[in-house]
Amino acid sequence: GETIGILGGGQLGRMLAMAAAQLGYRCHIYAPEPDSIAAEVSAAFTCAAWDDAGAMARFAADCAVVTYEFENVAVGPLAALGDVPLRPNARALEVAQDRLSEKRFVIAQGGTPARFAPVGGAAELAAAIGAIGTPGVLKTRREGYDGKGQWRIAAPEDARAIALPARPLIYEAFIDFFAEFSVILCRGEDGDIRFFDSAENVHVGGILARSSVPASPVVEVQVPAARALAARVAAALDYVGVLTLEFFATADGPVFNEMAPRVHNSGHWTIEGAVTSQFENHVRAICGLPLGDTGLAARAVEMRNVIGDAAEDWPAILADPANHLHLYGKAAAHPGRKMGHVTRLTLA
Ligand code: ATP
Ligand code: MG
Ligand code: MG
Repeated sequence: GETIGILGGGQLGRMLAMAAAQLGYRCHIYAPEPDSIAAEVSAAFTCAAWDDAGAMARFAADCAVVTYEFENVAVGPLAALGDVPLRPNARALEVAQDRLSEKRFVIAQGGTPARFAPVGGAAELAAAIGAIGTPGVLKTRREGYDGKGQWRIAAPEDARAIALPARPLIYEAFIDFFAEFSVILCRGEDGDIRFFDSAENVHVGGILARSSVPASPVVEVQVPAARALAARVAAALDYVGVLTLEFFATADGPVFNEMAPRVHNSGHWTIEGAVTSQFENHVRAICGLPLGDTGLAARAVEMRNVIGDAAEDWPAILADPANHLHLYGKAAAHPGRKMGHVTRLTLA
């Protein structure tokens, strides 16, 4: 079969490569690390810096289509892909890799984020806190994940204690939400959009801990508006593949948090819990194939992340036949590192 190129070598790339293999595709992983966990399950891999245009061009020569499993790929060097299609496209990547541009884009599509202000230094931070108030969260505009690059600000004087990094930041109001949820959709080459059921997500210390489907009824009522926004965002970006938008469910309706131009941790439950997984549908979309049914394959699904080096009793987890265990093959366990996940289906 043809070869799919995947930029990035983490667990999302690994799970994409496994879904691609099922459909007869080979995957070529492009990542800076020689021993990525995605390369382990793929036919080929290139270890090179993101801005190595020569390596990127040789990689592209091997690929029928290129996708990405994380959004922190610099857009400029992707010109070296030449005529090989990048899906989702570079514009989607560019918008979603910067918290300021993604918020502006979502506002233009009718969405509502937390009140925010871009911050370049201490004086601007003080002004932003003055305008928006506290509590709030200061975030790096780019490259944050799992709550990294964020500072909670409970009162204006907290700002003085922060050693501000020399990079673009954004200050946003802290949202008093009653739940968090995500909208995960897949948009085909022909513009066909399928939504997965929205999971209710619980974060602990900025890291996703659990996703549950179905979401509670108070969240479910906010899903249609959130879906409508996500569909407008996808159409406006001429998006192909899986797109995720994270929301806070509030008394004033869904508040947009952030988007990810890719498969998402809060969609891992779809591997066993949906008729077609987010990974398979992403592969189908970027390869120009019809999308699969996104409906539930169980009455309820619960996904929890295995985080850090907490030694768990895998046989005991698997002794419950409703559980599915996914381990990502990461050699070193660090506190806060996502090592795997467990999905539990409720069938009846
Ligand atoms: P991800 O791993 O999802 O990409 P991230 O590092 O991009 O995470 P965010 O999604 O911005 O981080 O924030 C992580 C979590 O912190 C949120 O899911 C939410 O629980 C909390 N949080 C972030 N921003 C706010 C906010 N403005 N108001 C309330 N809670 C927030
Ligand atoms: Mg994020
Ligand atoms: Mg997030």
